[in-house]
Amino acid sequence: MRPFGTTIFAEMSALAVRTGAVNLGQGFPDTDGPPEMLAAAEQALRGGRNQYPPGPGIPELRAAVGRHQQRFWGLGYDPDGEILITAGATEAIAATILALCEPGDEVVCFEPFYDSYAASIALAGAVRRPVTLTPSETGNFGFDPERLRAAFSDRTRLVLLNSPHNPTGKVFARAELELIAALCREHDVYAVTDEVYEHLVFTDSAEQHIPLATLDGMRERTLRISSAGKTFSCTGWKIGWVSGPRALISAVTRVKQFLTYVNGGPFQPAIAVALDLPDEYYQGFRAGLQDRRDQLAAGLRQAGLRVLPSDGTYFITADISDKSKKDGIGFCLELPERVGVAAIPTQVFYDNQEPARTLVRFAFCKRESVIEEAVTRLAGL
Ligand SMILES: *Cc1c(COP(=O)(O)O)cnc(C)c1O
Repeated sequence: MRPFGTTIFAEMSALAVRTGAVNLGQGFPDTDGPPEMLAAAEQALRGGRNQYPPGPGIPELRAAVGRHQQRFWGLGYDPDGEILITAGATEAIAATILALCEPGDEVVCFEPFYDSYAASIALAGAVRRPVTLTPSETGNFGFDPERLRAAFSDRTRLVLLNSPHNPTGKVFARAELELIAALCREHDVYAVTDEVYEHLVFTDSAEQHIPLATLDGMRERTLRISSAGKTFSCTGWKIGWVSGPRALISAVTRVKQFLTYVNGGPFQPAIAVALDLPDEYYQGFRAGLQDRRDQLAAGLRQAGLRVLPSDGTYFITADISDKSKKDGIGFCLELPERVGVAAIPTQVFYDNQEPARTLVRFAFCKRESVIEEAVTRLAGL
């Protein structure tokens, strides 16, 4: 693990604290989640639910995760054996890769990738085969289908897909997903999907969120991962889950029991309450973030940056080349001192950094007044 060092999020958050910068780096909300959920957690905490929950997660949460996937995506999973509660999506990803990969197996994934992917693949002794997402003239990120095809080999064990995609805000289109699914079937490999932003596709996006598991022949080979942190603004609670065929969930459970065994006792019943909230909660949550996205996009443009489209997630990308001679890392290291805002250089999420040298990721999952302050400061660029 020597090459991994400190994550860029920790580094930039520490810099933001040291300089008093508005932190649009790390993607965590600055408001609490729905009051019903907070009340349920408080009740559980005072109501004797503070010991080890059952290994697979409490039954009421597994049932709620099952109902939620049926309600939004028409996917049926048996809460007894096809759903496992984990310590956030991060543990679900790690346990899944460790369960499925032997040393030397290959994992196809799209870069830029979420920073835990490379580390989890390394922990399993597996090898990552990145397929590069590059922005087109319109700023929409895409990949070369031939490169994707070429990334598969007879050592491929699984494809790791994140959509809606952090850091680009890309939502994979049906045709792209169909190609990924066809390659999974052709090479008889698993798919692991990170869908933590499943409820954050904006209403003006040309794409909808389509879980890969809903495509032909995919449910039986897909482990579908999501988490409460992003949807219910409780990233510190670390409640996630993985759903899939019984035999695969059983393999993941075997790994998970020796990573954390269980987690989040009193938070599990609270997330069960949150998942059952009416559609209006989910719509209101998305509408709020879409407003923040638009507010930040307008501010970045006013500051003279070129803004790339964001169809979903907590994030928007700006190209800094009109405002800085430096690359994204140099720009982000000096931005807190220069104007008092922190952001994350997109290039750190790539193995092959060239297509993203001047791209910077800004998080808009913050209060309106905080974005307003950031926009005022960015005007000083
Ligand atoms: C935040 C995030 C995660 C981690 O989710 P946790 O539930 O906090 O572990 C995983 N994948 C992506 C793409 C994320 O943005």
